[in-house]
Amino acid sequence: MVFLPHPQFGQLGTVPDHIPISEFMLNEQHGRVAHGKSNDPYTCGITGKTYTSRQVVDRVDQIAKGLSKEFGWDPNQGTEWEKTLAVFSLNTIDSLPLFWATHQLGGLVSPANAAYSASELKHQLLDSKAKALFTCAPLLSIALEAAALAGLPRSKIYLIDVPLEILAGAKPPTGYKTVSQIAEAGKTLPALKPLNWGPGEGARRTAFLCYSSGTSGLPKGVMISHRNVIANVLQAKVFESSYRDARSRATGISPFTEVGLGLLPQSHIYALVVINHASAYRGDQTIILPKFELKSYLASIQNFKITSLFLVPPIIINMLRSHDVCSKYDLSSVRTLFTGAAPLGMETAADFQRLYPDVIIRQGYGLTETCTVVCSTHPDDVVLGSSGCLFPGFEARIVSPEGHEITSYDTPGELVVRSPSVVLGYLNNEKATKETFEDGWMRTGDEAVVRVGPKGTEHVFIVDRIKELIKVKGLQVAPAELEAHLLTHPAVADCAVIAIPDDMAGEVPKAIVVKTPSAGPDETVAQSIKKHVEDHKARHKWLKGGVRFVDAVPKSPSGKILRRLLRDQEKEARRKA
Ligand code: AMP
Repeated sequence: MVFLPHPQFGQLGTVPDHIPISEFMLNEQHGRVAHGKSNDPYTCGITGKTYTSRQVVDRVDQIAKGLSKEFGWDPNQGTEWEKTLAVFSLNTIDSLPLFWATHQLGGLVSPANAAYSASELKHQLLDSKAKALFTCAPLLSIALEAAALAGLPRSKIYLIDVPLEILAGAKPPTGYKTVSQIAEAGKTLPALKPLNWGPGEGARRTAFLCYSSGTSGLPKGVMISHRNVIANVLQAKVFESSYRDARSRATGISPFTEVGLGLLPQSHIYALVVINHASAYRGDQTIILPKFELKSYLASIQNFKITSLFLVPPIIINMLRSHDVCSKYDLSSVRTLFTGAAPLGMETAADFQRLYPDVIIRQGYGLTETCTVVCSTHPDDVVLGSSGCLFPGFEARIVSPEGHEITSYDTPGELVVRSPSVVLGYLNNEKATKETFEDGWMRTGDEAVVRVGPKGTEHVFIVDRIKELIKVKGLQVAPAELEAHLLTHPAVADCAVIAIPDDMAGEVPKAIVVKTPSAGPDETVAQSIKKHVEDHKARHKWLKGGVRFVDAVPKSPSGKILRRLLRDQEKEARRKA
């Protein structure tokens, strides 16, 4: 049985496959200028500096011309893999213009998590074969270390401008070209040759290379095409219009007056596509914040009269726990809370609703591999705990562990989806690509049920995760990556890493370790193992769940770690404690 989107949420029309994302997005901004509807797609939440639609169009053009000269890139020569830029930065208002400028040159962008350590960034630089690295002042030292490890010369490191306010009094580094200087140089250069793409080129070419571990193994480069992004932006637009247009008729609120929060990392698919692309395409404004700090976050909601919060569950929990601070700010402009990237607990949702009764809580579910949203709460059809209804253009199946199609409601199985936004596959990893993608269908590795809601529509509920992935504050932690790292510690003979629940982060990693015969006492070894992770891995990968020593890691006859058994053992131990 194939579940389909409800027709009341609109129909997805043809998704353009002959243009890059940049052209698709800029045509819309051009149109806005031509029709006098110019808005402010991106505003810095620290300085208030804004790019209007017109300025975004100009900025992209200038950066593209500047990059073309800097790297000698011709829009119509070479593949995107010869024009790969890695971007390792805090959120800025220049990020999207830089991404689109790269697309205008037929290149691709590989955004890296700003929390990465040097060795993690090195892996992405080498794997993506990035030709240059764009970073920002606060991350420069890590970027330099990673570039040196990856053999990328210092001359290929560039800076994206960040507000001086976040440099904490430090002087901006000198000796690196900045995006602003590249744009300045581009101003006087002749127009670029337009891209001469034929039909289907946008569906074949990779626009973004994001990293995800998928259902198992190490983080892999996810090849996201231009058409994938365009599809999800249009799916969001159609779904959203089915509500906003009616709201506009009923209340007079313009469909284009949303002011969104751009706090989540632009390197993650949720922020990249939903917040930074879909919102700008619809004509909304996004207030860009470089990092989470409670008071500046609350101040920006108050000062910019933010109407849509895009958050992950840990920030919502933080708001509930800091209600005394939150109540000092005027948050009355907020109409909608979007949450995604990890499950939102029912209790958390109910507590939030009690404190903010006028805010509509909308949960979205999606993956890097589906180029974001699969389903989302429709404001006219809110059901607590549900991840909402399928986006237009999606098809979904629920499959039992034995591979049988589940045809009844309320019966759990793996969610398998198809949509024009389902990505091209994993870079240089045919095995993982074959295991995950088939005929446009994608195995999500998540367990779901479909239930009919009170309004007669089908709702998707994510009930468990089958795949190995751990989600800490909405960010991915691949157990296989931590296991490989732990095995480099001299006291570790064997190990497994599993998720354990955490009130604040959602989940945290815990290591189950078999010590080598010569290893010291448990407490000393546990501290040393934790430090080994902290010295080399991003903070969200640290072993906050602790270390437990065992005589043997339970494995199947074929050598696969029995993770569910370990998880159940942990559950039982917690129940007894
Ligand atoms: P990522 O590719 O980093 O976005 O991670 C995708 C994974 O995050 C999904 O496969 C789910 O396991 C999890 N996820 C995303 N959104 C939700 C949600 N609303 N509820 C439960 N899990 C979610």
